Amino acid sequence: MSRKFFVGGNWKCNGTIEEVKKIVTTLNEAEVPSEDDVEVVVSPPFVFLPVVKTILRSDFSVAAQNCWARKGGAFTGEVSADMLINLGIPWVILGHSERRLLLNESNEFVGDKVSYALAQGLKVIACVGETLEQRESGSTMAVVAAQTKAIAERVSNWSNIVLAYEPVWAIGTGKVATPSQAQEVHFNLRKWLQDNAGAEVALSTRIIYGGSVNGANCRELAAQPDVDGFLVGGASLKPEFIDIIKSAT
Ligand code: PEP
Repeated sequence: MSRKFFVGGNWKCNGTIEEVKKIVTTLNEAEVPSEDDVEVVVSPPFVFLPVVKTILRSDFSVAAQNCWARKGGAFTGEVSADMLINLGIPWVILGHSERRLLLNESNEFVGDKVSYALAQGLKVIACVGETLEQRESGSTMAVVAAQTKAIAERVSNWSNIVLAYEPVWAIGTGKVATPSQAQEVHFNLRKWLQDNAGAEVALSTRIIYGGSVNGANCRELAAQPDVDGFLVGGASLKPEFIDIIKSAT
């Protein structure tokens, strides 16, 4: 089964309205492979979502960087999945390591968010990944399996989930995983999906890599059989994001 290459751009907590419009202009003017070959989703901060959605080319899509775990209400500072749907935002990133580690989001809480967001009709980029300490102690697979299990226990339909493997030690550090390190974890995650969610889910779910991907290292990573695309942070704010999109073909 062919899995359409997926490239996400996580703009994190960056940008002014002027800078955001400039990035969108660069994207809009770029020549990239057809949307039949690559799915491109950019994720600006919440406040810029409506404007980016309005001015972004129609073959690219937008994602929020987070949403609340339940229906809205008395949760100051949160944004609900229902609100994103109401605005026509199709995607959300959940479980990013910056939120897991800096804001203490547990596996269970991330699983609850994924489940609620899917139930409201959002598509989810669900992030998993180990810290350097966990990798060095040999627990990479146990960590990403536990993170994925908390999602699998709460979700029966995986068709609107993209799983992003993002080793924490590679995020924003310039220290990218080698193609074989990425392939090994992606292969094992797919095997985990096969054993725990079924062969069809394992075959069809896109597993993308994130962590210091740039225009120079993307092609070798994209050539790995179980790497179905990327979640890109820093480089998604720069013109080289176009090169990363082009690594799909
Ligand atoms: C990310 O934040 O998801 C990420 C992968 O960041 P970077 O590409 O900057 O390492």
